[in-house]
This record gives sequence, C-alpha cells and structure tokens, in this order.
Amino acid sequence: MIKVAQCWDDGLSTDRRLVGMLRKYGAKATFNLTPGRHGEERVEAYWTPQGYSGWSCRGFIGGRLSKHELLETYSGFRVASHCMKHEHAGQIPDESFIRAALDARHYLEDLFQLECPGFAWPYGACTKPLAEALLAAGFEYGRTTGNCCGDVSQYEHPMLLCPNCHYQDCAFYELYEKAKQDGNNFFYFWGHTYEMQDSEGMWKQLEDKIRFICDDPDAVWCDVIDIVRADKSSVTSANV
Ligand SMILES: [Zn+2]
Repeated sequence: MIKVAQCWDDGLSTDRRLVGMLRKYGAKATFNLTPGRHGEERVEAYWTPQGYSGWSCRGFIGGRLSKHELLETYSGFRVASHCMKHEHAGQIPDESFIRAALDARHYLEDLFQLECPGFAWPYGACTKPLAEALLAAGFEYGRTTGNCCGDVSQYEHPMLLCPNCHYQDCAFYELYEKAKQDGNNFFYFWGHTYEMQDSEGMWKQLEDKIRFICDDPDAVWCDVIDIVRADKSSVTSANV
C-alpha cells in the first residue's frame, strides 16, 4: 500500500477549481499559503502580455483569493506556512525570514484553528542554517522543489524535504509506478494551479491523475505531515 500526498502553493484564485475537484474525489491535499498577500477582494486569474511575473505561467496570472475566503476555500484540507509574503531565503536577514515563516504559521493556526507545523520554501530557496532554525522553532517539515528519486520518507533533513515530482512531470505515472514497485511508503507531488492556465486539457490531465490514484486499490491519500510523522506513529489513511 502506497500513501500519496500532494501540496499546492500560493493561495491562488485558481485553487478554487482544484479544491472542488479534490472534494469530488475525496483526495487529501496541503495548501501552502502566504497570508500577507491576500487582500480584501479576490483578484481573479487573467492573461497578461507581460509574461512571467513570479506567480504566472507564460502570461497567465493565477489571481489571489481574498483573505476572507481562505477559511471556506481550504476547509477540510491542511494548510501550511509559505511565509507571510513569499519571502526569499537568503535575500533578507535570517531573523526576518524566520519571523515571516512563523507569522504565517500563527496566522493560519488562528484562522483555521488547526496546528500548522508544515512549511514550504518560497521559490524553493533554502539554506541549511535556516532549515535548522525553523526546525528549532517548531516546524516539522519544509518542502523544497527538488525531486526525490527514492522514498520521500528517507530524507536527510525534515526541513529539506523533497517531493517525488511536480504534478506536470512528464514521467509522473512512471515515477508513481516505480515508487510502488520499489516498495516505497509514499509518493508525493506538488505544484501551482496557475500552471494549468485556463486550459481544459491541462485541468483534465490533472483530474485524470487524481482519479487514477483514487482508483488504485493499492493507494491511499495522506497528508504531507504524515511523511515526517511516519516513523513516530502509524500513518492515518483514509481513502474516502
Ligand atoms: Zn510559492
């Protein structure tokens, strides 16, 4: 039995379509949020001729949920700190980065009334001293953007956790089957919903993957936090 985890970054307006899909299939997911970037009003997704701007894909801007709809949108899912405003590790003083990571965690814990010990490194940028500092501050894992070619639960450092692949990796299914054949405990993928733009084809490709995992009798969904807690307690599985 393989346990499958997924996480999605940045609190985008396009996440609304994803959570609808995940609820339809009963799939678990963790959303990595930057509470300091959500305003009073939702910014809808849109196309821009200006190209990449940090939260876009070939000119498609994923928009941003309003701060008032975070609770409803992500209700029933895990949420994790992605810093307050997507701060870049190494480009601001370490103390400021740690504060941004913790402030986001505390904001989310207050809003969702749930523990939020997870973290995702903005831009995938991370440093060993900051990994040590965030672990000491109480975070239990930090997701990087590296690709793990083995069992993701056999990490060297929990704050430098590598998923197996991005959800649009062209080897997604091969990597999934390999993880199962190798007897790995987990398969873990990640992404951003803006990467599907407003392409029905790309959304269908993701839905096919979600359904494929749901239909696999040898797979159950889990939360990302279960990966690092696997050796501490039995992993909760609920393939609903
Ligand atoms: Zn991000």
